[in-house]
Amino acid sequence: MNVALIAHDNKKDDIVNLAIAYQNILKKANLFATGTTGLRISEATGLSIHRFQSGPYGGDQQIGAMVANNEMDLVIFLRDPLTAQPHDPDISALLRICDVHNVAVATNMASAEALIRAMDKGLVDFRPKTR
Ligand code: PGA
Repeated sequence: MNVALIAHDNKKDDIVNLAIAYQNILKKANLFATGTTGLRISEATGLSIHRFQSGPYGGDQQIGAMVANNEMDLVIFLRDPLTAQPHDPDISALLRICDVHNVAVATNMASAEALIRAMDKGLVDFRPKTR
């Protein structure tokens, strides 16, 4: 399983806490993240994470490319819905390409927890792609 982890600045503490809480599940997956999110998670948990560029510098698009290449199973993207983001077009593009390719994506803590638990229990076929 390839899992992407992304969080906007106001959600970074949340994604670190999520990674701590579920690290026994997450450590079984191949983890990918945008730059700062990945650094925060790896420092807090010791999990091995492939870090892309920081989101505003193209990290969301790099993860989107993996989605488009059928290389991603799950995207956890804790967005901050209350703060304007300079890279909003990239964020929209990532969510769009997840929908194009039917890739599971969680944009808040409740759905992130549900999908991580589902992944662990094998409840969901994470690669029923559109093509
Ligand atoms: P960051 O990027 O993890 O490098 O902060 C996330 C984002 O803002 O999309």
